[in-house]
Amino acid sequence: MTLSQGRSYLAIPGPSVMPEAVLRAMHRTAPNIYDGELVEMTHGLIPDLKRVARTQGHVAIYICNGHGTWEAALANTVSPGDAVLVPATGRFGHGWAEMAKAMGIEARIIDFGRSSSVDPAQVEAALRADTEGRIKAVLATHVDTSTSILNDIPAIRAAIDAAGHPALLMADCVASLGCDVFEMDAWGVDVTITASQKGLMVPPGLGFVFFSDKAAAQRAGMDRVSPYWDWTARAAPQLYYQYFGGTAPTHHLYGLRVALDMIHEEGIEAVWTRHQRLAKAIWAACDVWSEGGALSLNVSNPAQRSCAVTSLRLADRRGADLRQWTEQTAGVLLGIGLGMSDEDDPNGEGYFRFGHMGHVNAHMVLGLLGVVEAGMAALQVPHGRGGTAAAATLLGAETMSR
Ligand SMILES: *Cc1c(COP(=O)(O)O)cnc(C)c1O
Repeated sequence: MTLSQGRSYLAIPGPSVMPEAVLRAMHRTAPNIYDGELVEMTHGLIPDLKRVARTQGHVAIYICNGHGTWEAALANTVSPGDAVLVPATGRFGHGWAEMAKAMGIEARIIDFGRSSSVDPAQVEAALRADTEGRIKAVLATHVDTSTSILNDIPAIRAAIDAAGHPALLMADCVASLGCDVFEMDAWGVDVTITASQKGLMVPPGLGFVFFSDKAAAQRAGMDRVSPYWDWTARAAPQLYYQYFGGTAPTHHLYGLRVALDMIHEEGIEAVWTRHQRLAKAIWAACDVWSEGGALSLNVSNPAQRSCAVTSLRLADRRGADLRQWTEQTAGVLLGIGLGMSDEDDPNGEGYFRFGHMGHVNAHMVLGLLGVVEAGMAALQVPHGRGGTAAAATLLGAETMSR
C-alpha cells in the first residue's frame, strides 16, 4: 500500500526544493541576449549576490556546479607545485583536496575524521611548520554536507593570523550560503565558493566565486590561468558575454533573480534564524528517537552541526530500508549516506541524511519528521516515541518567544 501520490518532497541536501516563483520565472521564451532586460537584470544580480555572501569584494559567475567552483578558486590563485592546506571534516573536504592534487598542487590534508569539526590549533601548527611559505591557501569547508559538520571559519582565520601566515582563506559554502550564518568580510575570508542548487534554491548549473582584493592580487601574480576559469573579466566585464565567458545561462539567471528577491525580502538574518529553528526541531525529534538506541545523530555537539543538513545513522542497515520506505510509501526522498563508511563496511547502509536547506518551512519539516517516524514504526526500528511531537512543541514555543 502506498500513500505517495501528491506532491513529492526532495528532502536531500541538494539539489534543494525550488520555489514555484523560481520555476515560473524560468518558464519563458528565450530572451534577447544582446541588450535590454536580461543585460540590465544581470548587472543587478551582482550586488544582491554579494549581499548574501556579506562581502564588498568581487564575484565571478560560472556555468558549472560546485566542483567547477573548486577548480575556479584554485586555478586563479595556486600554481602547480605550490601547496594548499586542507583541514578535512568529511567527503567534500577530501574532494577539494583531490581536485587540487589533480591540478598538480600539493594538498596537505589534516583529517579530522567524520564526527568532529576542525581544530584550529592544528591548522596553526601546520602553517607554522611551512617555513618555506609553500602553502598558498587554506581550503576550509564551512559545512561538510557528507558529515553535516559545521566548521568555525572565524577560528580558522584566527589560526592563520596567529601563525602570521600569508595563505588565503578559502571557504566552501556550497551547502551553507543562504542557510547558516556566514560573513565573508567580517570573518576575513578571501575566497568563498558556492553553487545555485542548495541554499540559493535555483537548479544546478550556476557556480559563484566571491573573492577579496588580496585574492585578486594573488591572481595578478600568477604566470598563467586557464582562460575559462579566469575570474578577472567575469568579475569586471567590458562586454556582456564576459560575465559568463560565452553565452549567458539565460533561464538560470531569471530563476536566480527571483530567488535573491525572496532571500532579501525575508532578510538574510531571518533566513538564518528560520534554518536554525527548523534544524533545532529536527534535532529534538532525533534526540527522542535515539532513546530507543537504534538512531544516532552523526554530530553530537549541537554547536558543530549544520542547520542545512543532518547526517544520521540507523543501526544495522536500516537507513537504506527507511529511505526506500519514505520514498515509495510517503513521497519523501531522503539523502543517501555519503563518505560515512569505508566501502567494505557492512554498516554503510545505515547512514542517511536529511536536507533542510533553502525553500523549507515548518510544515515541510514536520511532514518529513512525521513520515520518518511512521517509517520507523512500519519497519519496526526501535526508537523513542514522540519525536515529531517534541519537534512540534519546540516550534510552537519558539514562535511564541519570537
Ligand atoms: C554539494 C557540495 C559540493 C559539490 O557541488 P556539486 O554541485 O555537486 O559539484 C561541494 N561542496 C559542498 C560543501 C557541497 O555541499
